[in-house]
Amino acid sequence: MNFFSANLNKILAGKSLGQPGLETLLGARGEQIRDLFAAANRVRRSGVRDAVHLRAIIEYSNYCRKNCLYCGLRRDNKTLPRYRLALADILDAAGRAASLGYRTVVLQSGEDPYYSAADIARLVEQIKDRQDLAVTLSLGEYSRETYRTWREAGADRYLLKQETSDPVLFKYLKPDGSLQNRLQCLHWLKELGYQTGSGNMVGLPGQTSATLAGDIALMRELDVEMAGIGPFLPHQDTPLRSAAPGKLETTLVTLAVARLCLPRAHLPATTSLGTLTPEGYKLALGCGANVIMPNLTPAEVRHKYMIYPQKADIRDDPVKAKKNIEMLLASLARPLAADYGHAPECCRRDTLAGAPTN
Ligand code: SAM
Ligand code: SF4
Repeated sequence: MNFFSANLNKILAGKSLGQPGLETLLGARGEQIRDLFAAANRVRRSGVRDAVHLRAIIEYSNYCRKNCLYCGLRRDNKTLPRYRLALADILDAAGRAASLGYRTVVLQSGEDPYYSAADIARLVEQIKDRQDLAVTLSLGEYSRETYRTWREAGADRYLLKQETSDPVLFKYLKPDGSLQNRLQCLHWLKELGYQTGSGNMVGLPGQTSATLAGDIALMRELDVEMAGIGPFLPHQDTPLRSAAPGKLETTLVTLAVARLCLPRAHLPATTSLGTLTPEGYKLALGCGANVIMPNLTPAEVRHKYMIYPQKADIRDDPVKAKKNIEMLLASLARPLAADYGHAPECCRRDTLAGAPTN
């Protein structure tokens, strides 16, 4: 048996692979890729079943205090027209998501302290009071106290991608912060009982297969409940404008290896993959993904949330987009989940008194 098959069999037998084993799987070629995707699909089915969960994303502000080299929302991008939604408009968008049958809203934004911790807490409370929705926040790095306030207000989940596990690459790409602080935030989120998501970008300049293996090992060590894995896409108004985009095959292989290491996590077919190729969602659902995140940001501002160009969901009408997803899932014989899509282990981690129960 060759080295690749030996490592694949080892992980399928429930054993943990170290860095060399993960790198071998990430180096899959030709028929090995077919075997890897088939294995990831089987592990996805036994870990999280066939149903696909939809999370409606509302991008409520494109102001950001940070200057990440890869992102179109970075503070030095003066060409981007900025917007902030009023709290009432965010509530309306959440109401729209609920009326379309979504069970989760994801509130995402640049790091924008214009909204106080109390504002966001009130918003979460009002969404939970008015709608039968789980709430995921994806707002960036804040203090433990702030995360606690939002958790006590009822937020169920938090998405904070590590982006890369290489501390030197991290510092280069995110000059305002450090990997250490990002990881500290992820630990606080877990302690506070959030279902916690991390993730990475594939194809970042300076990334190697060893970095990708480290990214997956880190997500396994953090025992994340969600992992967003998508290609890096260059934006013309950032310092990385001339960098090559992440490759489709490398992204799918990384997703498949992540699925083997995180059998019970929720893994989205990311919008960036759907932007890289129109087949992106379908391909991701075939090698480990079980979540799609349709865009419910009001149409008037959606094109301004330009983290990278030609974002796949920029013009989607919410009603049509949902129908398209339903058709895609029907063609793949994958049912649409009807529940909130909480992480299977979430109840064990609800450490706060009065933690949300839905
Ligand atoms: N500001 C928060 C943060 O950074 O965690 C949340 C919003 S941020 C726009 C959401 C995600 O967008 C990041 O985690 C990053 O992975 C992704 N992103 C930003 N620029 C990107 C690019 N050029 N290509 C692919 N993904 C990108
Ligand atoms: Fe801001 Fe997030 Fe973009 Fe970085 S990735 S510039 S923190 S919005």
